[in-house]
Amino acid sequence: MGECLIKQVLVIGGGLAGLRAAIAAHDAGCDAAVLSKVYPIRSHSGAAQGGINAALANHPEGKDDSWERHAFDTIKGSDYLADQPRVEILTQEAPERVLEMEHWGTYFSRTPDGHIAQRPFGGAGFPRTCYAADRTGHHLLHTLWEQCLKRNITLYNEWLITCLVVHGGRVFGAISLHIPTGQLQAFGAHAIIIAGGGHGRIFAKSTNAYINTGSATAAAFRAGVPLEDMEFVQFHPTTLYGTNILITEGVRGEGGILVNAKGERFMERYASTVMELGPRDIVARGIQTEIDEGRGFKGKYGSYVHLDVHHLGADVIKTRLPGIRQIAMDFAGVDPIEAPIPIQPGQHYSMGGLACDENGQTPIEGLFAVGECSCVSVHGANRLGGNSLLETIIFGKRAGEQAANIAKNADKPGSESVLNDVLREQEADIKSLKARTKGERQITIRRRMQAEMTEKVGLFREEKSLTKTVEKLAQLKEEYKKVIIDNKGDAFNYDLMDALELGGMLELAEVTAQTALRRRECRGSHWRTDHPSRKDEEWMKHSLAFFNPEGPPRIEYEDVLITTYEPTVRKY
Ligand SMILES: Cc1cc2nc3c(=O)[nH]c(=O)nc-3n(C[C@H](O)[C@H](O)[C@H](O)COP(=O)(O)OP(=O)(O)OC[C@H]3O[C@@H](n4cnc5c(N)ncnc54)[C@H](O)[C@@H]3O)c2cc1C
Repeated sequence: MGECLIKQVLVIGGGLAGLRAAIAAHDAGCDAAVLSKVYPIRSHSGAAQGGINAALANHPEGKDDSWERHAFDTIKGSDYLADQPRVEILTQEAPERVLEMEHWGTYFSRTPDGHIAQRPFGGAGFPRTCYAADRTGHHLLHTLWEQCLKRNITLYNEWLITCLVVHGGRVFGAISLHIPTGQLQAFGAHAIIIAGGGHGRIFAKSTNAYINTGSATAAAFRAGVPLEDMEFVQFHPTTLYGTNILITEGVRGEGGILVNAKGERFMERYASTVMELGPRDIVARGIQTEIDEGRGFKGKYGSYVHLDVHHLGADVIKTRLPGIRQIAMDFAGVDPIEAPIPIQPGQHYSMGGLACDENGQTPIEGLFAVGECSCVSVHGANRLGGNSLLETIIFGKRAGEQAANIAKNADKPGSESVLNDVLREQEADIKSLKARTKGERQITIRRRMQAEMTEKVGLFREEKSLTKTVEKLAQLKEEYKKVIIDNKGDAFNYDLMDALELGGMLELAEVTAQTALRRRECRGSHWRTDHPSRKDEEWMKHSLAFFNPEGPPRIEYEDVLITTYEPTVRKY
């Protein structure tokens, strides 16, 4: 145990949201540090392919685009569950933030006259998605990382936050495991920003990196921040059959089509006007329905349909979709220039997350949330592609500035003795976990949870199986109390890390299943086969789940902020 390290603003997470927040806090005159369980440029943000939305109106077919049109598309896409004033902030500030990324060096693809190129994306009225070939996240992440290096912002790499310390309604600091040595360390801070990313790995079939476990989200949940709208999980329509690696929506944006085993272009049945460029929830359910009704191709890992781009020609595929071509060749043995790509839907994004306002402020003083782990409520029941990268830089900047304000006006960070008490408790917990010999291995519990979530809390849901899942998850939580690990060492003990993170994953899975069970309607990504319609009178509400150490979470509901756009039937 080293001496407590004190920072003015401590950012947990080195993805786009965390780095943007740290830059903002630093530029506002604070001593900011980023702590991340992986080196920042290995964060999942770097895997983003398709692009980032901003109404720049650079595309010949997008001349009439505006931030208001972007706001409308986002709110309609959200099935009217997004908080409208927050969406307006997202879309109004988008052009300025995206141009800032360009000026900081992001290597965007270009129009013939040298402006940032934009491509069509699902659910968008105009071609509005700015891109860097099909490696947009990689370029954005490297740009922000360079900006952090330039500012000499301290990076604590390979540190895993295991718990937050909150005392008297205010955040004091965090306890962290140093992965290379296995030592625990207390960090004190005036303000903490959680930027821990998504938690897609609570599902078996996911496009998310293995690191996307949501352990930082779970730490904030346990510390008292409610989780908002967790029943809304995005399933991406096109993930590679077998491995579920993402095949970007940009493929359909460039003109790719979906075909079933009977050779039919089946999207005609589900979104006849926009076809393959319908929003993700509708396209994913279309594909799954084709598969469930026997019109898919059968294979070892379930059924799939085809995503065909060969008609675009080798030049377009090689210049605009080089990464996708490589993935298809390496992981499915298919060259899209010659043959269709086999795809199936898979978990992709968490619309729900830590409840916070437009400056990232959670209900706990000094504690902020930003990026995919948060729920500012701009995506509602279904996120539009390209809006998530955007969310990280818009709200990253706002949260960083707000945290800096709080930190500069705070007299001193929380008491070190409170932090050290928690640190000692954590050390004792890890010691007894390592000593335990009777119980279930973490991987066994994890796989059961993932299978349960994929089968019962997936694209189509219903009362009976959700009720059983909720019971099953409670049982897995009980088993987890006696989880065992094989590796008793200190250095790079991933067995220990996985076991520690699994506890948080079970909490997040339980909240997802519990809120899905209660919401008896269909809205966006949440489809109840036993309640097949949207019920605005009863359900135009956000769910809020509160941690309960004794059992299942307490769930409350809160009104949606509707200002400009009256909810109507959502048709494409
Ligand atoms: C394959 C793929 C493609 C995508 N493509 C697009 C796209 O084209 N357009 C778009 O808008 N969106 C896209 N998305 C979504 C988007 O990329 C993410 O939502 C966004 O990048 C999340 O950024 P973030 O900073 O919130 O989290 P991340 O980039 O996931 O970063 C999370 C950080 O938190 C750290 N961390 C987590 N837990 C802990 C802990 N306990 N202790 C310490 N550190 C911790 C991690 O080390 C990491 O640095 C895509 C997502 C995927 C999976």
